[in-house]
Amino acid sequence: MNPHRRGIAASAVVFAAIVLGFVFQETLLGGTLRRQTTAAEGIGSVDGTRIARADEEPGNWYTVGRTFSEQRFSPLAQITQENVDALGFAWEYDMRTTRPLEASPVVVDGTMYASGNWGRVHAVNAATGEEMWSYDPRVPGSWARKACCGVVNRGLAVWKGSVYVGSLDGRLIRLDATTGEPLWEQDTLIDRQRDYTITSAPRIVRDRVIIGNSGAEYGVRGYISAYDTASGELAWRFYTVPADPSQPFEHPELEMAAATWDPQSLWEFGGGGTVWGGMAYDPELNLLYVGTGNASPYPVATRSPAGGDNLFLASILAIDPDTGRLAWHYQTTPGENWDYTATANLILAEMEIDGRQRRVIMQAPKNGFFYVIDRATGELLSAEPYVTVNWASHVDLETGRPIQVPAGNYDEEPKQVSPSWWGGHNWHPMAFSPMTGLVYIPTIEWPTIFARVPDPIYRPGQQTVGVTTQGGSFPLDPPVEDAPHALKAWDPVANREVWRVGYRFPYNGGLLATAGNLVFQGTVDGRLKAYAADTGAEVANIEVGTSIMAAPVAFLVDGTQYIAVEAGYGGGANARPFPEGSAAIERGNAGRIIAFKLGGGGVPLPPLVDPRAEIPLPSRPDASPETLAEGGRLYRRFCADCHRIDDHPTVAPNLLRMDVAVHDVFERIVLEGLLEANGMPDFGREITADEVEEIHAFLVETAHDVRGIE
Ligand code: CA
Repeated sequence: MNPHRRGIAASAVVFAAIVLGFVFQETLLGGTLRRQTTAAEGIGSVDGTRIARADEEPGNWYTVGRTFSEQRFSPLAQITQENVDALGFAWEYDMRTTRPLEASPVVVDGTMYASGNWGRVHAVNAATGEEMWSYDPRVPGSWARKACCGVVNRGLAVWKGSVYVGSLDGRLIRLDATTGEPLWEQDTLIDRQRDYTITSAPRIVRDRVIIGNSGAEYGVRGYISAYDTASGELAWRFYTVPADPSQPFEHPELEMAAATWDPQSLWEFGGGGTVWGGMAYDPELNLLYVGTGNASPYPVATRSPAGGDNLFLASILAIDPDTGRLAWHYQTTPGENWDYTATANLILAEMEIDGRQRRVIMQAPKNGFFYVIDRATGELLSAEPYVTVNWASHVDLETGRPIQVPAGNYDEEPKQVSPSWWGGHNWHPMAFSPMTGLVYIPTIEWPTIFARVPDPIYRPGQQTVGVTTQGGSFPLDPPVEDAPHALKAWDPVANREVWRVGYRFPYNGGLLATAGNLVFQGTVDGRLKAYAADTGAEVANIEVGTSIMAAPVAFLVDGTQYIAVEAGYGGGANARPFPEGSAAIERGNAGRIIAFKLGGGGVPLPPLVDPRAEIPLPSRPDASPETLAEGGRLYRRFCADCHRIDDHPTVAPNLLRMDVAVHDVFERIVLEGLLEANGMPDFGREITADEVEEIHAFLVETAHDVRGIE
């Protein structure tokens, strides 16, 4: 279809939807939230006007964070603290994966649009879970090797009858919201020899779709790109870090940035600063806010030997979405040194601080400080630690700079640093309730020991971060009585914790707050929990049988309020064993969207998988100790990033538990890409047939040992 004509048609539909919206508003009687649309035509007819007035249509969830402010707060109040104990199963949708799921769906006029692994998109009836269409970008399985933290996707955008999603292999794709047919796609990667991916949600403002990339652990240079929603044409690109300053700067801001880098920096590593998470938009100020990622490689002493702030790593950028020019910036971690991304979700709100009404932007980045910033000017209003922080004593509000202390400096010798590279808060979205004035943060309390690797070498296709890290004094599998990781309710004005719910294991789910005085969170042990937003009292605890990391959403269809969430474990925890007691260990990490409503029954649980059930094994290999040792070495080099070597289940298949049929085609899987469609890369260029035999011998031998079989 002619994109121009399509635009006119979509505009007419949007106009009709707005008119209908006003008509329906008239039926808002007695304060009940009973607005309903019947948008049989014009599916997904979202635009800036509608999003800006999102509170008038509280039944919709327009963006990954519901609105431009991305508070992840729903004004719906049919489900309340008083009745949430009757919350139960409404429907489920099979995502046909056992890989990690991290997205919050968009729900518009009764249709849910959800993204999954690789950038797959599923459109379902939001009242029934019935599939309308699904789209697979058909990413080659070899791209799994370029994703540090799983082949994940954190969301999509819906705009004027189209759905926009990034595929793992770097394409921005526009789909027809009614049919799922692709309308255009753009290659967002500036260099296909570098290990870029897309894992984040695009955002759309003023008919521009903005997308960043992931990959800083593999040596890339961060940037965001803005495309015209109708034509797909590139409007502008903003690089978050300079390239080698002997080359011309692509835009004026990079001259300022380059002055904060050693000219002799390790430019070959790309610098990092990738944009793979938080964004938000203020339509009145017309500013787009973007969080930038960690450095490449991590240690500043390696990367930029003379030091310097290394702008715009680990920063919040305010950008004019029409021009791509920078309005202001705030760097959370000058001279980023610890994988302290500032890509956690960004939330806009209004609040009174020191007697003045302020329009603020808030973030809890990995570095452990909670930031409240005036979003018109970039002025830092407060920055207080929300978890244990030992790399800085405090943030100086005059200069806006953290005061770094020797405890965090591992230039000369290894140091145990808090937070770890996992951060005090990772990508799992926090939420803000304007009713309680509190922010709800899924926090991680885990230090790690950082040690520099001398003279790291950039190699395409390999993670090279310039440090080794290992667990610190808090074990990842803590004693049962310990609950160091917590959902914290944080007062952003008084800068204090108001309540907390402790968890034994990290990596619990993102948050949803609702006007029913509720906060919803999925947990790593496979439950959907609800807490009273003001006190933290647990008011619902529903077993779903699958670990949850993603943040839930709330919406209304035909007068019924639903809560829905993507369930599926992994991500940054991909190659780690599932914690004991996790639902995924027992029920196989069955990737699903699960929706809940009042009066629903119990959630159907996936069948139990016995991870220690007997599986037939080939007999012990006739191999020398040297061959087995070499097989083990090759296994650790090529396989162990995804496939655990012990007998614990993980997201990727446990190779000690392969079926006989898999043993038979093991060589073809490794060398010919037989399971590439499942995300198992083809190693034919790196591993020889003899080496595959050595790896296989090692696996079979180890499986016998682990199971105590002669
Ligand atoms: Ca990182």
